[in-house]
Amino acid sequence: MNAEIIAVGSELLLGQIVNTNARFLSEQLAELGINVYYHTVVGDNANRLSQAIQLAESRADLIVFTGGLGPTKDDLTKETIATSLQKSLVMDTEALDSITAYFHKVGRQMTPNNEKQALILEGSTSLKNEFGMAPGMFLTQDSHHYMLLPGPPFEMEPMFKKYGRESLLRVLAKNEIICSRVLRFFGIGEAQLETEIMDILDRQTNPTIAPLASDGEVTLRITAKHESRVRAISMIDELEKEILDIAGDYFYGYDDTSLIREAITLMTKHSLTLSCAESLTGGLFQSEIASVPGASNVLSGGVVCYSNEVKETVLSVPKEILDSFGAVSEQCARQLAENVRKLCNSQIGISFTGVAGPSEQEDKPVGTVWIGLSIEGHSTQAFPLKLAGGRNGNRVRSVKYGAFYLLKALKELSFN
Ligand code: ATP
Ligand code: MG
Repeated sequence: MNAEIIAVGSELLLGQIVNTNARFLSEQLAELGINVYYHTVVGDNANRLSQAIQLAESRADLIVFTGGLGPTKDDLTKETIATSLQKSLVMDTEALDSITAYFHKVGRQMTPNNEKQALILEGSTSLKNEFGMAPGMFLTQDSHHYMLLPGPPFEMEPMFKKYGRESLLRVLAKNEIICSRVLRFFGIGEAQLETEIMDILDRQTNPTIAPLASDGEVTLRITAKHESRVRAISMIDELEKEILDIAGDYFYGYDDTSLIREAITLMTKHSLTLSCAESLTGGLFQSEIASVPGASNVLSGGVVCYSNEVKETVLSVPKEILDSFGAVSEQCARQLAENVRKLCNSQIGISFTGVAGPSEQEDKPVGTVWIGLSIEGHSTQAFPLKLAGGRNGNRVRSVKYGAFYLLKALKELSFN
């Protein structure tokens, strides 16, 4: 099945908002094994939208629309599609009830154009909107499938995941089940990973493998189709094993997880607490930890030791180390990690010191970073990085590397 995504909204054409809906939907459709061949953006204009529909019908089996389901005059997606398909609009009583209930609950007067939001295309399946008013729609006519989704991502995304996806699965492959799994890698570039698993990539048709790189991470989405779910899963298992035999060193987790989440899970499981000494990252690492539910089980606290004075007075880094090796040094990183661990009475201490930029420091080039890691009962480690980004890119990347080394060390020490 081939698809086209039509995002409706003049604000997209004016550059006021970014078409993140297309990005989200493309990813979701790829997961279902649907090929997206075109993204179209069209303004709130009935004529141009009609033309876009015609063009899409000539080249796609599935057309997914986002935007223009609202109550105002410029929201004309479903009206235009109704005209194109010669369908009428009918009242979705369930949606009308929930809109009425919403107005009642917030004590506001409902206007006739709100009622218009509960109209759906005759013969379509209504897709429930749990975070807004306008329902979505799914309709099949003359070998084409049409899906209409609201514009706001916080309405559209859950609607697609919960209801839209189901409708597609039903028509997609009568009896075929589609399963997918994402493998996450860190510390290896997309090009390098692709090169290493080239042979596997080249011969894949089912399961398929889709690589994606972002924020220093690479993911591989493996998607298998089979009549039996058990068989689809075992096909994924087999391919995963082949991939990990080659690139297992860089693999860290599945699906929606993150390096920080994985590290927190392992520390929680083994009742380990963590403290942090952050010079370069200025608290960013702790902020990332704190953003994950359950962080309080592991995070003791830490010190933002930006100045040498704080490194020396609060974290007891000997003056000789700062004088002879500098703050951005292996020796300092080790001291910071060990001393913050003791200061906060935790089992693990991690430290970040480096040159974020824009100018060099201590004669060390921008992007020089040392990460220290001290785990109670084990010898302290220090990891050098040479980063090539801008100031904040380097800080963010350092945080990821910190989580990666922490996770790796935990696994090596059999905290699995
Ligand atoms: P509403 O009921 O809010 O009017 P709607 O379905 O009519 O919803 P639009 O009016 O087209 O949708 O867009 C509403 C808002 O949704 C936009 O202002 C924008 O914030 C967001 N939005 C719309 N289209 C997109 C898109 N393609 N990508 C990301 N955000 C979008
Ligand atoms: Mg609108």
